[in-house]
Amino acid sequence: MNKIRLLSDNTINQIAAGEVIDRPSSAVKELIENSLDANSSKINIYVKNGGKKEIIVSDDGDGIQKNDLKLAITRHATSKLDEENINEISSMGFRGEALPSIGSVSKMIIKSNINENQDGNKIEVTSGNIKTISPINQKKGTTVEIRDLFFSTPARLNFLKSENYETLLIKKIVQRLAICNYKTEFNLFVNGKNVISTKKSDHPNDNENFMKRIRDLLGNDFLDNSIFFDQKVEDFNFKGLLGIPTFHHSNTNNQFLFINKRVIQDKSMNVIFKLAYRDFMSYDRFPQLVVFIDCPTDKLDVNVHPSKNEVRFRNLNLLRSNILKTFKEKLAQAGHKASTVNTTRAVNKFYNKSNFQTFIELKEENIQESTSENLNVIQENESSNDENEENFFPLGYAKSQFHKTYIVSEIRNGIVIVDQHAAHERLVYEKLKKDFYEKKIQTQILLIPVVIDLDPNVVEGLKNFINSADNYGVKLEVFGKKSILVREVPSILANCNIKKLVMDLVEEITEINEPKSLESKINAICSKMACHGSIRAGRELQIDEMNDLLRKMESTPFSGQCNHGRPTYVQLNIEDIEKLFGRK
Ligand code: ADP
Ligand code: MG
Repeated sequence: MNKIRLLSDNTINQIAAGEVIDRPSSAVKELIENSLDANSSKINIYVKNGGKKEIIVSDDGDGIQKNDLKLAITRHATSKLDEENINEISSMGFRGEALPSIGSVSKMIIKSNINENQDGNKIEVTSGNIKTISPINQKKGTTVEIRDLFFSTPARLNFLKSENYETLLIKKIVQRLAICNYKTEFNLFVNGKNVISTKKSDHPNDNENFMKRIRDLLGNDFLDNSIFFDQKVEDFNFKGLLGIPTFHHSNTNNQFLFINKRVIQDKSMNVIFKLAYRDFMSYDRFPQLVVFIDCPTDKLDVNVHPSKNEVRFRNLNLLRSNILKTFKEKLAQAGHKASTVNTTRAVNKFYNKSNFQTFIELKEENIQESTSENLNVIQENESSNDENEENFFPLGYAKSQFHKTYIVSEIRNGIVIVDQHAAHERLVYEKLKKDFYEKKIQTQILLIPVVIDLDPNVVEGLKNFINSADNYGVKLEVFGKKSILVREVPSILANCNIKKLVMDLVEEITEINEPKSLESKINAICSKMACHGSIRAGRELQIDEMNDLLRKMESTPFSGQCNHGRPTYVQLNIEDIEKLFGRK
């Protein structure tokens, strides 16, 4: 065995580089964070070959003094940490590791100037060895150039993916940092091409700066389909945009989370967001959102991960319940706001073509696009200067029903088409849930009890369930060895096929195993029941019944989408309709 000896600084740095800088995008992140810590107002990033060949980050910040240049590339040397207050970290960096790590595995040049009126200085490092320090003509600020990242650690180099993939990761991190620092100008150039560009924004109203940045980086769709919130709960400040439930996504890529101005990518937080939406989004879809959480520095630990992607909260349960509360409230306030099924696109389709074919295509598209992510929001009708304000309902007055499935209603500036089954299912679901929690489900005794034959094993297993079914307004009794009797059901379900309902419930119960939380059990059961109690597509409705449904939708939270996240109604504004007929 060899004797134990201390590793050289350079080896230590190379080892550390594996943690802090695992790929080009993490080098980009560290460099941009340094620029932000230096109070820069404009940051330009240039990458070549996915950052493997070249990364240049240039800022107009405070700069580094000549004497500090050498220290900047020394391990555990930082200008940011006040050792008296190690628990109150407010800068992005504090570990003094990034530059020495990068310098140990690349060819690095730092050019910097702290004062416009004098020369700047430049330091050159290759594989951790300083080559030169020399004066240079440089404007105020710092430019860090990294070439041939990982050339001295081929194992790491082999680990990298294609140029496209590494570029994509770089774009994503620049995008996140630019959202978080929404007042700073960012420009990203990939192989010379400007792919991200957002100007400096200094509106006196900070929310304006934020919205502008979101529009620049995530587009109008994101803004139009989300609800802005800015709320203080105890020590936490929550702010951002919550995508409405129908604006969902296939993964968590469109969840942008920032905690105390840090870009955070933390699975446990994604789980909390999912929880907040789970009532109105199918399990395999994910909300889109931008969330800023700010809290006192002593409420969290940012030093749990070398690249600082994760944080640890002193009291995660408190945070979780605050998030759930805030989000649910906000989403409820959005009320019946729903995405239209691509009204604009549909309208465009209509008036770009003029033959019968269009209608067939449109029909097919509707079927597919009812689950599409790319939806537009219905504008809430401004009712402020309406003379007949008291007679005005957001979902208007029912005019007729067609195909025994849809209700057409007239609103002030257009029409609304409601999917009667989806809408009613949502109403029944919300009502059942509310009544359940308030313990006042109204039941109806069946004149003739319904007998359901089941497998004897199932009947045996149902004995516990029979008690809890009672809480949902379903009164059951074991009847012999292989049947159960249904004696009472919730009144709103009285007209449904009771046999089918109970069979479904039994299935739901036997499927639900203990790991599910009580709340999700309740939701699952209410949702099953709602499915049965709803007006089926295919039932003729009287005008009164239709209006009744519309009024209930207006007063029920989340009625804009059915339990499966599909919209329950769409809106066509009069301008859209005029376009169809070439009047506009
Ligand atoms: P940390 O950011 O954790 O302090 P780094 O290795 O990233 O460690 O940087 C070391 C030091 O170099 C910083 O503390 C800072 O003083 C200086 N520095 C790095 N980049 C810049 C920059 N773009 N502008 C001004 N100073 C910088
Ligand atoms: Mg740093």
